[in-house]
Amino acid sequence: MAKRGMLIVLSGPSGVGKGTVRKALFETGATDFSYSISMTTRQPREGEVNGVDYYFVSKEEFEENIRTGQMLEYAKYVDNYYGTPLKYVNETLDQGKDVFLEIEVNGAMQVRANCPDAVFVFLTPPDLMELKHRLIGRGTDAMDVINKRIKKAVGEIQMMRNYDYAVVNDEVNKAVERIQMIIRSERLRVTRV
Ligand code: 5GP
Repeated sequence: MAKRGMLIVLSGPSGVGKGTVRKALFETGATDFSYSISMTTRQPREGEVNGVDYYFVSKEEFEENIRTGQMLEYAKYVDNYYGTPLKYVNETLDQGKDVFLEIEVNGAMQVRANCPDAVFVFLTPPDLMELKHRLIGRGTDAMDVINKRIKKAVGEIQMMRNYDYAVVNDEVNKAVERIQMIIRSERLRVTRV
C-alpha cells in the first residue's frame, strides 16, 4: 500500500488573502498536491463556477451531508455553511497524494482534532487596518459584513498559536514561496506526530 499523503491546511482570517495565495500557489504549476474543493451554502459570486471554486448547495443538502457524516469539518461563517467533503480527502490521501485545504479557523481546529498529523499553516495580515482596507478594496461585501468579519478576525489572530507555521501575507509571491518552503521541509521530515 502506498504511503498515505500529507494533509496541508491553510487557514487565517477572511480577507487576509487565503484564496489569492492558494490560487497563486496552484498557478505556479510547481505543486503536486490536490486541492480539496469546499462545499458551501453561500451564493456564487460573479465568475465563480460550481465544482471549481466551490460546490454550491442548499442548506438542506449541506445539513444532510453533516447528518450522514460526510464532512471532514464544517463551520457556519457569516450565516452560511462551509465545509470539506470527507470522501475526496480520504481517497486522495490513500492514493499517497498530498491534499491542500484552504479553510477558516473553526474548521481548521476540527481538522487538528481529527487529523493530528496534518500540517497547519496560519496566514496573517501585516496588520489589522490593512485587513480592513483589503476587505473594502475587494468591494464584494457590504459594510456590516465587513465589520462582522473584522471583529471575527481579531479573535482569529489570537488563535495563531494553535498552528505549526505562521506566514505573513505581505506580498502574494513571498507568501507562496514561504508555503512551498514549509511543504518541502515537511516532506523531508523523518518523524510526524
Ligand atoms: P468566502 O465566502 O470569502 O469564499 O469564504 C469565507 C471563508 O470561508 C474564508 O475564510 C474561507 O477560507 C472559508 N472556507 C472556504 N471553504 C471552507 C471549508 O471547506 N471549511 C471551512 N471551515 N471554511 C471554509
